[in-house]
Amino acid sequence: MPPAKTTFSDLATAAYCPRQLYYDRREDDREPPPAATARIDLAFRYPALRGMDDAELRAEPIDRDPADYRAALDRVTERPDWDALTDPDGTRVLLDGKDARGVAHKILGATGAAARDDEGEPKGDPPVPVLVSPGAPPESGVWEPQSVRAVAAMHALSWEEGRRVRRALVEYPAHAVVREVRLSVRRSGTYRRVLRTVRGIDGPPGRLSGSEKCRECRHRDRCGVRTRSLRSRLGL
Ligand code: SF4
Repeated sequence: MPPAKTTFSDLATAAYCPRQLYYDRREDDREPPPAATARIDLAFRYPALRGMDDAELRAEPIDRDPADYRAALDRVTERPDWDALTDPDGTRVLLDGKDARGVAHKILGATGAAARDDEGEPKGDPPVPVLVSPGAPPESGVWEPQSVRAVAAMHALSWEEGRRVRRALVEYPAHAVVREVRLSVRRSGTYRRVLRTVRGIDGPPGRLSGSEKCRECRHRDRCGVRTRSLRSRLGL
């Protein structure tokens, strides 16, 4: 029997820490918190956000001051895919791939019959899956869990469409930042490694050792991991 399909979010969590996924799976409620959902929803409201004054923007779940946010959003409007980002071909689309399934927040470009000519061959550019993060972007590129999730979405969309999808986007709407993820040998290798890890979890995986990741982890107490004190981190 083939292994059960894993989800994009399990892959992303395991890319962060396999033990965190182990604890997540033992919880009844795995829905994202409402605050995260409100931030994700910003990615569907760019035109309205552009028209807001400072007071209105301050009432939104954004992580920049209004002037910075407006300037960052103006930079997003200069992207060639701005129109598609604000009016995507699909929203919250369930992608069902060979190994993994999950939701792409947006799909840019035609899919299915609309993306095929009279002979049934693919036409035009491949569609682009878009994932939305409620958090902050790194200095450049995307965080590794988001890279793994983006590769999972590209593979799943490739599987559904019968054509190579080699580009994805990750949006950070609380910062008005959009980043591109291109499929590469390294990214695919990381995705495969994480997929094997998820499939192999049959007990609590080892703790991360001295990782900054544990400081943000909601399972820290349960996990029993020790985070270093400020004194020891400063070498005092
Ligand atoms: S505290 Fe650290 S090791 Fe433990 S589950 Fe969280 S991230 Fe993983």
